[in-house]
Amino acid sequence: MAKYIPDSKSNRWVILAPSRLNKPHATEAEYKLTQKDGMKIAKNCPFCPGNEEKTPCEIERMRGPHSWQIRVFANKFPITDVHEVIVHSPDHTKEIEQMTEEELKLLFIVYQHRIIKLSQEGVPILFRNKGADAGTSLPHPHSQIILLPRQINLEALSLEPIKNIVVENSMFVSFCPDFSQYPYEVWIAHKSCMNQEVTAPALESVDFARFSEEELTHVSRMLKTTLVALEKLLDGFSYNYYISPTPPFYLRIIPRVLIRGGFELGTGLSTNTVDPTMAAFEIKKYTTEL
Ligand SMILES: [Zn+2]
Repeated sequence: MAKYIPDSKSNRWVILAPSRLNKPHATEAEYKLTQKDGMKIAKNCPFCPGNEEKTPCEIERMRGPHSWQIRVFANKFPITDVHEVIVHSPDHTKEIEQMTEEELKLLFIVYQHRIIKLSQEGVPILFRNKGADAGTSLPHPHSQIILLPRQINLEALSLEPIKNIVVENSMFVSFCPDFSQYPYEVWIAHKSCMNQEVTAPALESVDFARFSEEELTHVSRMLKTTLVALEKLLDGFSYNYYISPTPPFYLRIIPRVLIRGGFELGTGLSTNTVDPTMAAFEIKKYTTEL
């Protein structure tokens, strides 16, 4: 059982998760890759095909040309009582930047499905950590969902005015918010939120759980375009992204190129070394037309 400890003064919570201590910390060098059916597979990776019995019980599976395309199972080292892992692809090395449109759409269909399912029991937080600086312990590309009880106060940000646009397609836009806390932070939002006159109830209806298949296709395409551009600019960077736990929808990408120091930890203030206007301008140079 996860233990939730409230701080009545600040209204913040801490989750005690001692099982996380046993989490493995493997690096890419420890995996020996072999080619199979045009994919790269690591024999000793618990997320690779052939090692399905090494993961806790499977929750969901999307079929693909090689037995499965996406697998969802319980996290072996959970933070809370419901903590799921979503493996993006059977290929050990296939990042979002290399996935096909069809594979990405499937991933977002699974994201949506898990969020809808878990929303019945609490607040699901869906996120991805990529790279050692972002807290990844296993390099095989995967996302995670953690379910929080509704009574926990979250310090989640709400969608801010859409400025410093990086790129847009017919349904979504990516941008660097004026209040970005990290250098080259990029948010993806639905274009219906761009209108300043949009009413609060209309904003509340921009809900990831209610996105159509077409919207899921467009948002996943926007994520890929943005990550490809960031990768070209920041070369081999670590990042986190997460989907807003409440409507209106946004997907926030945080490149981990800055380590927080004593000043930031002591004050809760953020020092961002790159002006978001300039960040958007720089990232935009690496985007291709959608
Ligand atoms: Zn693997």
